[in-house]
Amino acid sequence: MFIEKIRHVIIVKTAFLNFALTLSATIIRPLIVEQSIVFTYMGIFNSFVLGCVFLFVKKAQPKDWQAMLLVASVMLVLLPIVLVSGGNNSHFSYLFPIIPIFVSLVSNAKYTWITTLIIVVCLLAIYFSSGLLPDYTYENVPQNKTIARTIWLTFSVLFACKFGIEFNRIISTLGNKLSEQAEIDVLTGIHNRRSIMLFLQHAMDEAKLKNTHLSVLMIDLDHFKQINDNYGHLVGDQCLRAAAQCLKQGIRQHTDQAGRYGGEEFIVVIKDANEQKAFEIAQQILLEIAQTSIEIDTINSINVTATIGLCTRSGDNLTSIEHFIELADKVLYLGKESGRNCVIKAAM
Ligand code: GH3
Ligand code: MG
Ligand code: MG
Repeated sequence: MFIEKIRHVIIVKTAFLNFALTLSATIIRPLIVEQSIVFTYMGIFNSFVLGCVFLFVKKAQPKDWQAMLLVASVMLVLLPIVLVSGGNNSHFSYLFPIIPIFVSLVSNAKYTWITTLIIVVCLLAIYFSSGLLPDYTYENVPQNKTIARTIWLTFSVLFACKFGIEFNRIISTLGNKLSEQAEIDVLTGIHNRRSIMLFLQHAMDEAKLKNTHLSVLMIDLDHFKQINDNYGHLVGDQCLRAAAQCLKQGIRQHTDQAGRYGGEEFIVVIKDANEQKAFEIAQQILLEIAQTSIEIDTINSINVTATIGLCTRSGDNLTSIEHFIELADKVLYLGKESGRNCVIKAAM
């Protein structure tokens, strides 16, 4: 999501830059250098095409293949002006290597290679068609220079393609790592509060739509303050990690999700299961936590217990995630009052 937004910003800014540069060149260049009127007509046409492209990409986030559309329009603009200004000797042909870099930033490796291949074919076609079209710059470049420039241009385009793909790969890996880290609780390695709340919201929307059951388990470790006081915070942290592992193992991997709500409180979201099934999962988690020993030194180990509040709702009874959590929280504290290490269900 984050990377997609960056891509859209790059596309919009590049499209605007293309438009602004072409328009200003069309207006300013005839005032500075003497040139054929053909370039002014082409400049007006090109500014119009690039203006339309800018408005198009500004409105909607282009899909991967739409980046190709953008490239097609840039080629439509660039090719005629290159053809009538000396082919591969044209000042405009030095813009070709920028295109694969742009495509790699906004699209994927496959489209970058396709674009590069098209540009290389164009460069060869421009070389072999030299002499067939008029050169309005009237520069007579010797044949050997044209060959050398075509070769260097081709290499530049290929290099730009490889560079763009590698750069994009690094950026994507970093982006994925960042979004992964933004969802994980550093201490326990399970989902953090933001991530589990988001999952709960999606699960609730889905359950409302499909009229299926949804359950929330609020889990609070028992007498955790005493553990910290008696054995220190490091042992306390170890207990939190162990409890988180029990949650991870106790849930159904493809439907449910466990997260740390804060401190020594956890949430488990159980989808597509009735109250009885959710109750069984909760009891299994409770047992798992109670049976897990945490080593405090080479000889001694301790066991912690937890209390769980369970709330199951479906259809119209699903109001908001805050209300859902509040209901589970209320029964959790009933569990605390009735002696801890138990699962209490909220009334339907
Ligand atoms: P109860 O059975 O009623 O839940 O009692 P409790 O002692 O668990 O409840 P309380 O909310 O009073 O204590 C929670 C403790 O959890 C207090 C706080 O120091 C500890 N805690 C919160 N976050 C962390 C953490 O990240 N690491 C460690 N080691 N302790 C934490
Ligand atoms: Mg607590
Ligand atoms: Mg507690």
